[in-house]
Amino acid sequence: MSGQAIDEKQLIGTGLKKRTEEALANDFLRKAVAFTTDKLRTGKRQAMDDFGHWEEWRERARAIRKHVVENLDYYLTQFSDNVAKTGGHVYFCQSGEEAVRTFLDIAEKRRAKLVAKGKSMVSEEIHLNHRLEEKGIEAIETDLGEYILQLAKETPSHLIIPAIHKNKQQIADIFSAESGESFAPETKVLAGYARQRLRNYFLEADIGLTGCNFAVAESGSITLVSNEGNGRMVSTLPKCHVVVMGMERLVPSYDDLEVVLNMLARSATGQKLTTYTSMITGPRREGELDGPEELHVIVLDNGRSAQLGDPVFQEVLHCIRCAACLNVCPVYRHVGGHTYGSVYSGPIGAVLTPLLQQDMKEAGQLAYASSLCGACYEACPVKIPLHDMLVQLRARKVKLGLTPLAERVAFKTYQTAFGNVTLYRMAAKSVYYLQKPLIRKGYIKQGIGPLAGWTQSRFLPMKPKKSFRERWEELQRELKAQGRPGSGASAQGGDRA
Ligand code: SF4
Repeated sequence: MSGQAIDEKQLIGTGLKKRTEEALANDFLRKAVAFTTDKLRTGKRQAMDDFGHWEEWRERARAIRKHVVENLDYYLTQFSDNVAKTGGHVYFCQSGEEAVRTFLDIAEKRRAKLVAKGKSMVSEEIHLNHRLEEKGIEAIETDLGEYILQLAKETPSHLIIPAIHKNKQQIADIFSAESGESFAPETKVLAGYARQRLRNYFLEADIGLTGCNFAVAESGSITLVSNEGNGRMVSTLPKCHVVVMGMERLVPSYDDLEVVLNMLARSATGQKLTTYTSMITGPRREGELDGPEELHVIVLDNGRSAQLGDPVFQEVLHCIRCAACLNVCPVYRHVGGHTYGSVYSGPIGAVLTPLLQQDMKEAGQLAYASSLCGACYEACPVKIPLHDMLVQLRARKVKLGLTPLAERVAFKTYQTAFGNVTLYRMAAKSVYYLQKPLIRKGYIKQGIGPLAGWTQSRFLPMKPKKSFRERWEELQRELKAQGRPGSGASAQGGDRA
């Protein structure tokens, strides 16, 4: 059993428009995503108010992340040394392929046949389940949402609520198909079934695999936050624990951890703290009863270090994966996560995916999946200016000549017309005459070409014969003829008081 492998390059590029249309036509999906993201937003707002001094906390969290990313080499070395001191092993992997091979080597040495997985977006990023399946190793997702999606052969559609697009009836159907029994669509029943199924996997797994919410450099500790407790089971019951983490997921100290944990839980779900917060420092020591015999930490680069030193994009590495930007994004809320065709969706996904894949042609199209309203920046607990980054990604696409020919011609024409006042006036005048065949009762109700999409859900008011500037100048002349002083302001913008 494995999660559906994603061919991201194929999905992201040509499929984006089609997936958007499908998502918009899916009323259930839109309602389900809006319902849950509304709940998360309300919870976050309440948590911010209760906490108080939110902007100061936000600034502090940003400063911590900025400091870590600016000194990543130092903190990675400190973290790695401390993991080694406690008996663990650290592997630095440049690419997803290298990370997969490292994991397979560990699995081979342990003769592993079964891997119990906690929630790990990085393992999704490197398509680990798919590769394990190829090698005959069974990987079981133990996070409830991920487990549902694994059975449904789907990928996550939200960073922290992977099955956000499914309701209880759909989950009951999935579990019924899996077990041959019939389940009522009730939370208790469904959670009970999953708990009973997963318990054996925790006990039988050869390897427990988890992600890492934050790694503490000063102690070499791995921090896992979860609301289900599966992370704790996966990291303690199997004899071998493998952590797969992005190279930027560090904080210098426990003091810093306190700040980012406070921001993560509140921003993600509105909780003060997640139900389980586990800090793991090394494998089981002599005399200890619990914990794995081995701890391996795979630290993944996969395009992250390419952002270091970039004046615009380095900040994307500050992300703490809280998903607050998804919950407020008007685009994500309408189309859900699968539309993005990438493991990472929403505004952070639209920025991160082209950067990590270093692919502006296909993945770069995600930069247009935004209204640039800036809600993502306002929601972000570490103040990442995602909307600015999306504009910069679009600019990069233009510079690389990756935009369609028609678009390039249109903008060149626009630039020429707006750069010359005579041409601008002529162009503005001609629009009045060009629009005439399309006008119905003062509106363009059915546009052609690029206008067709615009008028699908709204009417475009017709451009009046005279521009504001012409009418203003006329008015000034009339007032002058009547011997009245007028405003004195020029329509050329001379008076800006
Ligand atoms: S970009 Fe900000 S809001 Fe979005 S997931 Fe990352 S930390 Fe959270």
